[in-house]
Amino acid sequence: MYDANPLIHHLRAASVGREDAVFATQPLAGPDAAAVTFAQLFARAEQMAAELVEQGVQPGDRVAVQVQKSLAAIELYLGTVMAGAVFLPLNTAYTDTEVAYFISDATPRVFVCDPERAGSLQSVAAQAKVLTLDAAGQGTLSALADRQGGFQVVARSPDDLAAILYTSGTTGRSKGAMLSHANLYSNSRTLRDHWEFTCDDVLIHALPIFHTHGLFVATNVALLAAASVVFLPGFDRDAILQAMPTATALMGVPTFYTRLLADERLTQECAANMRLFISGSAPLLVDTHEQWEARTGHRILERYGMTETNMSTSNPYRGERIAGTVGLPLPGVEARVMAEGTELAAGEIGVLEVRGPNVFQGYWQMPEKTAEELRPDGWFITGDLAKIDSNGYVTIVGRQKDLVITGGFNVYPKEVEVLIDDMPGVVESAVIGVPHPDFGEAVVAVVARSGDEISAEAIQAALVGQLAKFKQPKHVALVDALPRNTMGKVQKKALRETYAGLFG
Ligand code: AMP
Repeated sequence: MYDANPLIHHLRAASVGREDAVFATQPLAGPDAAAVTFAQLFARAEQMAAELVEQGVQPGDRVAVQVQKSLAAIELYLGTVMAGAVFLPLNTAYTDTEVAYFISDATPRVFVCDPERAGSLQSVAAQAKVLTLDAAGQGTLSALADRQGGFQVVARSPDDLAAILYTSGTTGRSKGAMLSHANLYSNSRTLRDHWEFTCDDVLIHALPIFHTHGLFVATNVALLAAASVVFLPGFDRDAILQAMPTATALMGVPTFYTRLLADERLTQECAANMRLFISGSAPLLVDTHEQWEARTGHRILERYGMTETNMSTSNPYRGERIAGTVGLPLPGVEARVMAEGTELAAGEIGVLEVRGPNVFQGYWQMPEKTAEELRPDGWFITGDLAKIDSNGYVTIVGRQKDLVITGGFNVYPKEVEVLIDDMPGVVESAVIGVPHPDFGEAVVAVVARSGDEISAEAIQAALVGQLAKFKQPKHVALVDALPRNTMGKVQKKALRETYAGLFG
């Protein structure tokens, strides 16, 4: 029986009685990649679990994984949790030096990597046993797992860890967010119910699986609903448009939506079978939301979360989806906006805090960092600046560290960005603070345009009269595109570095 292992129990329970139904199809994986049923998925996960145990993995041990997206990687995730161990996925973009830090910090028992990098990574693997797995699911791990049979899942309690995900580390060292079985299954159950996922759903899965969005939101919700997924190795416009007429849901970052909008094959007809488009991990422009509705007839549902908290807020499935907001706190989750130890009134901007069963257990081996961000009474200080309106809808204004302080005044980048984004000829903008000899920091706007219709001077001129003088950019830089990471987040840190010398 597997009910002694809470996360596996919940993920598996939904497909009991329909084990032969298809969990995943892989349209881009070639003719050999037949559809995988729930029975096959879990049987393979058991083989992976058995092999991990044979490799010496004990309950609570970390299994670090840096591999291409594949169903085998999902089976490894499930197998790790079945073995009572802690799954630790790493971004495939991390270099050997970065991986060395994660390995030394997390001291995994086993490290699974791509065969192509096994040679160079072997030297940074320290005490960990190195196994390999490629994009087709082949490698030393799969060869060894082939020999294994069934597996008796290892008992765990709801508070035991199931995963550690490192945050992107935009300030200082990356921190390992410890997520328990209960954190993960409670959040996916809430999302499944809130978004009304059932076994009739077909979810287009094009997100990376080293991040909370693709691994937990997409995969766990699909498993928990016994829904099936169209499993794609990454964002692929053709494949997504091809899948859409027979799919029901898509989970994406905002860039998925802007890239799909750029394709004329995206029509109301193409999206006729879809019931839900979800966006998160970075802010969705109001303009994108509106264009999407005009083109497909669907209002994108925006939600908000982070590695440490899973998902915290969501626009409603059945109620009003308000563009530019991330909706209401999810059932069981509380949210408040704070400044200097006091909860702020509706509409006021401060730091967003959340509390609930979704909130993580703390940072791996960083008790001081944990104490700085997680209050003893359970409130987690997100570091996001936000406001909550009188109906409870939350609007994210930006990261606290992106706040610009110029001449002693606070400038919330978003207030400036929304005005620039609204100008004809502007695709999007990022407002940053850069060092300035008089003001401490100066407001700088980096703007991506669709052509050369609008100049830097025209942008500056248009803001006069709309914004107080101290909020107006002292410089407008025109670029072809804003730098983004794989999750679609604008890399403001990189922009601050690029423009650091502007006034120096
Ligand atoms: P990560 O831990 O990588 O998932 O990043 C979490 C951060 O992404 C949050 O703290 C927010 O700053 C940002 N984020 C996530 N979802 C949204 C959203 N819907 N709108 C704006 N920012 C978001």
